[in-house]
Amino acid sequence: MAFFFPFYIEFLVGLWYAINRSWEYASTQACGSVDMEKILIIDDSNLQITYLRDILSEEYEITTATTAKEGLACIKEDNFSLILLDAVMPDIDGFTMLKILQEELITQHIPVIMITALSDIKHEERGFMLGAVDYITKPFHPSIVKARVRTHIKLYQYRIQIERQSMSDQLTGVANRRRYDEYSGKKWAEAIRFKHMFSVCMMDIDKFKVYNDVFGHPAGDVAITSVAKTVSSYLQRSTDFFARYGGEEFVAILVGCDAACARDYMEKVRKAVEDLHIPHSPEISPWVTVSIGGVTVTPKQGDDYDKYLKIADTMLYDAKRLGRNRVEWADETAGEKGE
Ligand code: GH3
Ligand code: MG
Ligand code: MG
Repeated sequence: MAFFFPFYIEFLVGLWYAINRSWEYASTQACGSVDMEKILIIDDSNLQITYLRDILSEEYEITTATTAKEGLACIKEDNFSLILLDAVMPDIDGFTMLKILQEELITQHIPVIMITALSDIKHEERGFMLGAVDYITKPFHPSIVKARVRTHIKLYQYRIQIERQSMSDQLTGVANRRRYDEYSGKKWAEAIRFKHMFSVCMMDIDKFKVYNDVFGHPAGDVAITSVAKTVSSYLQRSTDFFARYGGEEFVAILVGCDAACARDYMEKVRKAVEDLHIPHSPEISPWVTVSIGGVTVTPKQGDDYDKYLKIADTMLYDAKRLGRNRVEWADETAGEKGE
C-alpha cells in the first residue's frame, strides 16, 4: 500500500489541478501571447506538466507534450526558445530524445533543460554530454526553475540576436554574403529535390565609381543603402531572397517562377531603382541606375550552382555592354520543356 500511495496522491492532485486550472490554461492558449517566448514541456506526468506550467505560464507561452513523439510533432509546428524535457518516459526516453534533437539541423539550436528524478551524477553527466544546457533534479523549488529558465531564455535571445547581426550587412541592413552563401546552398539543394525553377541574378550599380568621385563616399553609402532598401522591398515573398554580394553588387534568388516571370519582375525592380530619382553625375545619367543579369534553371542532381552564378554574371556583363540600366536574362529551362 505504501508503494502505491504516492501514485494515488499524484492522480488525485493532478485531477484537482486539471479541473481548477483548465479554464485559465485555455484562456492563456487562446490569447496566443504574441510577444512571449515559447517553451515546450515534454513530460509523461500530467501532474509534473501542470506544476511546471503553473510556475512558468505567467512569463512564457507554454506548449505541452506527454511523449517524445508528440513533442517532435510540436517542434515541427512552432518555434520554441526552450524545451523542458523529462528523462524517464515510456517509448522514447529523454536522453534518446535529446540525442535526436541534437542531430537534427532544425532542432539542434533549441536549448534543452532536463528535469528528472534521476539525481545521480552519471545521469546528469549523460544529459550534459548529450547537449543539455541544464539539468534540474526533482524535487525542485519553483523559484529555482524560474531563475534557470530565465537565464537560458536570455542566453538564447542573445545568441539569436548575435546570429542575426552576423548574417546582415552593416551598411544596408539586407542579408550579407555569409547569409547568401548559406541560403543559396540550401535552396539549390531543395530546388534539385523538389524540381523547383530557380533563378539567380546579379545586380550592379551603374558607374558608381564616378558617383563617389562626384558626390563623395558618404553620399555613395547613402545611395547604396537606398538602392538596397528599395530592391529588398520588392523581394519580400518567402520564395525571394536578396543580399549584398559586395561593394555595389547585389544578388537575388527567386524560386518557383519561370524565366519570363523572373525577368519581368527584375525589370520592375530595375525601374523602381531608377524611379528613386537619386541624381547621378550629369555626364553619366540623370539618375542612379542598376544593371541586372539573371538565369533561370530547373536544376538536376549533380548540377553545379556556381556554373549558373557565372551565367548570371555573364548576363550582367552583357547588360553593362549593351548600355547599362537594363536586364539581360538566360533561360536555361528552354531545353527542358520537351523532356
Ligand atoms: P559599372 O557600371 O561598370 O559597374 O561601373 P562602376 O564604376 O560602378 O564599377 P567599378 O567596379 O569600377 O566601381 C565600383 C565602385 O563602387 C568603386 C567603389 O568605390 C564603389 N563602392 C564599392 N563599395 C562601396 C561602398 O560600400 N560605399 C561606397 N560609397 N562606394 C562603394
Ligand atoms: Mg558598378
Ligand atoms: Mg561592381
